[in-house]
Amino acid sequence: MDIDTRQRDVVVIGGGPAGGAAAALLAAKGLDVLLLEKETFPRFHIGESLMTETWWALEKLGLVEWLKSTAFPRKHSVQFISEDGRPSKPFYFSDTNDHESAVTWQVERSVFDAKLLDVAGSNGAEIRDGVAVEKVLFAEDGRAEGVRAAANGRTCEIPARVIVDASGLGAVIGRQLKLLEQDPLLMKAAIFAHYKGAHRDEGVDEGATLIIHSEGNRGWFWYIPLSDDRVSVGVVGEPGELLKGRGSPSEILTEEVQGSPCLKSRLEDASICSDVSVVSDFSYRSRRCAGAGWVLIGDAFGFIDPVYSTGVFLALKSGEMAAEAIAEGIAADDLGGDRLGAFAPELVDGIEAMRKLVYAFYTPGFSFADFVKNHPEHRERLVDLLTGNVFKEGVSDIFEDMKDFCMLPEEMPLEVG
Ligand SMILES: Cc1cc2nc3c(=O)[nH]c(=O)nc-3n(C[C@H](O)[C@H](O)[C@H](O)COP(=O)(O)OP(=O)(O)OC[C@H]3O[C@@H](n4cnc5c(N)ncnc54)[C@H](O)[C@@H]3O)c2cc1C
Repeated sequence: MDIDTRQRDVVVIGGGPAGGAAAALLAAKGLDVLLLEKETFPRFHIGESLMTETWWALEKLGLVEWLKSTAFPRKHSVQFISEDGRPSKPFYFSDTNDHESAVTWQVERSVFDAKLLDVAGSNGAEIRDGVAVEKVLFAEDGRAEGVRAAANGRTCEIPARVIVDASGLGAVIGRQLKLLEQDPLLMKAAIFAHYKGAHRDEGVDEGATLIIHSEGNRGWFWYIPLSDDRVSVGVVGEPGELLKGRGSPSEILTEEVQGSPCLKSRLEDASICSDVSVVSDFSYRSRRCAGAGWVLIGDAFGFIDPVYSTGVFLALKSGEMAAEAIAEGIAADDLGGDRLGAFAPELVDGIEAMRKLVYAFYTPGFSFADFVKNHPEHRERLVDLLTGNVFKEGVSDIFEDMKDFCMLPEEMPLEVG
């Protein structure tokens, strides 16, 4: 393997939105950054619908003008549809936001993630795809001191002052140090694919995300219009009910679609044009966000149910927060867990707020409309949360009243130091 094994300031594991953002921002600060990605890019990835609050990170990364030049559908709204096909009024983001961030994009992740790595490379980071990190190397005192990487059957060790784990569901450090805690009530599974030739809404609604309840409210579908006449469709449910004893993933997805009047008619002339993929048991968080010489960001730190499309937003945001903390730690020559993870309490507050909203979504009979009718004073907070404005002061005050309407989870503790 022809990787220069000199000591780097930062090695980033994974080239998704979290790793790409962290590498781009750290390299822009003049640090020596190496990003290792196990897949060969461009690669397919699920997670195409952005939240509007993603705009600020996209702007910081210099991606807004590029996004405007792409054919990615513009997302102006989200619409919820009942199991029998009755649509709610679309929720247009511009009703509550007059900034241009009120319109976001439905991105093709193979293109979006590759562009972000281009930005990181232009900022000076070295990007190596097709190189998997096998493990993080720890010194006897517990400090992370490098990684062991493998490509084409050969391995090498690369020392670094800080390791950023952005390996997504791979969660290299979380698994190695056994830090991951599953959320037992959100152990869901998803089956998904791209379709070509689906019926779309027109005009401002063409790029809307649809969240459709599945038969008997056992779960839900997403319907996300993409460019090139493709639509991303997936079904989410309890792993036992969705996956066990029901044939191949493709057969299950087709059967579920047939059981949904809304999707059946939208997909009547469409056909699957991608692999059909399955992901299961996907809600978890690490007990720690950082330690001496290491930091976790994006899904490598935690993953919450995708119903509100929070993943890319939190990945970019945590990449941004971590880059700031790491640059300050390196400047101060303090690479302890407290310093590197200084941003973690704020990040966790945002994640926990979204997790509570996910619990509300899954509470039988709960409706945001009813809640807001009873508590109009919380309408703005709810809009803030649903658009990703989760770090705004006071936004979590909503839960004091919401807990009377649905079961909310205890916050998962965060270990620091
Ligand atoms: C069913 C489903 C639907 C979703 N829908 C949405 C949505 O609509 N909108 C949204 O915002 N989010 C969505 N998400 C979430 C979103 O996909 C993730 O939150 C987001 O991709 C996280 O970014 P990341 O950079 O942390 O991880 P990833 O994007 O997963 O990137 C991690 C990268 O690390 C690489 N890697 C892994 N292990 C190693 C290793 N050992 N060495 C080197 N590289 C490694 C991987 O190949 C990958 O490229 C969805 C998720 C699921 C499961």
